[in-house]
Amino acid sequence: MNNTAYIGLGSNMGDREHYLRQAVAMLSRHHGVTVSKVSSIYETDPVGYEDQDQFLNMAVEVKTSLSPFELLDVTQSIEAELGRTREIRWGPRTADLDILLYNRENIETERLIVPHPRMYERLFVLAPLKEICPQADHITISAETNQEGVRVWKQKSGVGEFVHSES
Ligand code: ATP
Ligand code: CA
Ligand code: CA
Repeated sequence: MNNTAYIGLGSNMGDREHYLRQAVAMLSRHHGVTVSKVSSIYETDPVGYEDQDQFLNMAVEVKTSLSPFELLDVTQSIEAELGRTREIRWGPRTADLDILLYNRENIETERLIVPHPRMYERLFVLAPLKEICPQADHITISAETNQEGVRVWKQKSGVGEFVHSES
């Protein structure tokens, strides 16, 4: 588990909190992944494709023995298991798991780009990430970033509350 990665999660369909909790629990059950920190849950206005319900967003820190590509396999299989389908770009989804950071690596392949290329302009990603990631602390939220539409929905709690929630 000698790598540190940050994953951004989002949901705006059905029981949104349940999907977030399921996704974190599924990450933590993987033998190559330990969830070490969880952010608050934020409620956020949709960005990109606006004719859809509000999102819940959060971020987690994981310690992992997996490579970035293996971690992407895991996050994509969790999305699939939670019933994610892809119809509209940036459209409604049960669960979206994006790899935001993986150590301090820069990866640019067709399948995986890290740091996540759109995270710096997204308050719904930066706000939860800054709570748990020392390295993100120095990222300034630029004047162009819309400061609205992102509010804390449920305060940060311990990892245990997520990892043991099977509800
Ligand atoms: P956005 O990437 O703007 O947040 P999205 O999350 O809705 O949009 P998806 O449909 O979930 O986009 O993902 C499209 C593709 O992005 C995935 O198939 C995956 O291969 C690729 N991808 C590239 N970099 C990453 C990353 N850092 N984390 C997750 N997926 C990534
Ligand atoms: Ca995304
Ligand atoms: Ca995604």
